[in-house]
Amino acid sequence: MRVQVCIIGGGPSGLLLSQLLHLQGIDTVVLEKYSRDHVLGRIRAGVLERGFAELMREAQCGERMDREGEIHNGFHIAHDGVLHHVDLHKYSHGNSVTVYGQTELTRDLYEARDRLGGKLVHNAADVSLHDLASDAPHVTYRDGGREVRIDCDYVVGADGFHGVSRKSIPKDVLREYEKVYPFGWLGVLSRTKPVSPELIYVKHDRGFALCSMRSQVLSRYYIQVPLTDKPDDWSDEAFWSELRRRMPLEVAARLITGPSIEKSIAPLRSFVAEPMSYGRLFLAGDAAHIVPPTGARGLNTAASDVYYLYHAMVARYRTGDGSGLNAYSQKALARVWKAQRFSWWMTMLLHRFPDRIEYEDRLQQTEMSYLFSSETALRLLAENYVGLPF
Ligand SMILES: Cc1cc2nc3c(=O)[nH]c(=O)nc-3n(C[C@H](O)[C@H](O)[C@H](O)COP(=O)(O)OP(=O)(O)OC[C@H]3O[C@@H](n4cnc5c(N)ncnc54)[C@H](O)[C@@H]3O)c2cc1C
Repeated sequence: MRVQVCIIGGGPSGLLLSQLLHLQGIDTVVLEKYSRDHVLGRIRAGVLERGFAELMREAQCGERMDREGEIHNGFHIAHDGVLHHVDLHKYSHGNSVTVYGQTELTRDLYEARDRLGGKLVHNAADVSLHDLASDAPHVTYRDGGREVRIDCDYVVGADGFHGVSRKSIPKDVLREYEKVYPFGWLGVLSRTKPVSPELIYVKHDRGFALCSMRSQVLSRYYIQVPLTDKPDDWSDEAFWSELRRRMPLEVAARLITGPSIEKSIAPLRSFVAEPMSYGRLFLAGDAAHIVPPTGARGLNTAASDVYYLYHAMVARYRTGDGSGLNAYSQKALARVWKAQRFSWWMTMLLHRFPDRIEYEDRLQQTEMSYLFSSETALRLLAENYVGLPF
């Protein structure tokens, strides 16, 4: 098979890019390691920046998001049992975020690819990238006992943190920056009405908690747990009871609990790989960078990569101008690092660090009280939370 762009990974980054390129007449194929059901079974992000929502509309995939997604003009931070409101609308020139689950968004992208007859290969085993430094790269994968070869102009590695694309860049070219946090988030999804119409981030002596949602009938709650904990260590009752203890009393009093329909622990990690391109290979999304979920930047940063890559590829195919592709890594990384900084800052502000000295605890408290005593500090928070411009 020959295509113009071979995309590795059928997550949000890969699907969105292939849909946008297809609409511009650029031929793509998406190779996904797992089945569609497996990809759609993952419960992940839920907060979309305006830039991401606009990209979904441009990809003709925004209809259900606009109908069912919820616009949030603010969120709360609970500290010392008191709820503080962060008015995103007021402090970010009228901006807001959309709450719409990654699972639903991925489903919309799959349906859009199907409608246009997009080429999508599921269960593509042993994907391997070849001749990336040449003008004629190719990709191979195994389909049962048969090896399939795809010749292309460009390869896009959108295959997440554990994918094969980043590992195809020679070790002496790639530089990796990483910070692993000494705790994880235990997440529970339940078919219950959310405790609050807006998200509540909780800083508490027992550890961080987050009250989030996917819709008005589907709640997503998280608590900070030690990395050694396993989901099976936590019965539903134990989870709800710990969550209540961390919430302000007025919030705990109105919490509606129910059986968990999904329970998992996500470790928290910050990671960036540089450069984000090598020869004819371009990395996008989690393949190149990971953030702790505290600032809801992961999926949104993947979207800005897709935006830059999409425009650079369209320029290359329309006018032969390859300067956007040459500048892609530098441009994407400039925004990636800002999202890293914000996610790190939110994580440091809100979590309990087991090995912190008292001096650092006092600084953390001071940072929090400063935040709610300064409009400038609130503006900085709001501007980053709604997403910096692409
Ligand atoms: C448990 C968890 C919770 C999260 N929660 C949040 C959150 O609350 N807010 C937020 O903003 N972000 C969150 N994120 C991050 C967000 O989900 C990611 O940033 C987003 O999924 C990135 O999309 P992607 O398409 O780049 O990568 P992925 O979604 O990882 O997609 C990559 C795809 O590539 C496929 N693949 C992997 N290896 C290969 C291979 N060798 N060959 C072919 N295909 C391959 C994978 O199966 C996958 O479908 C969370 C992530 C995790 C893991």
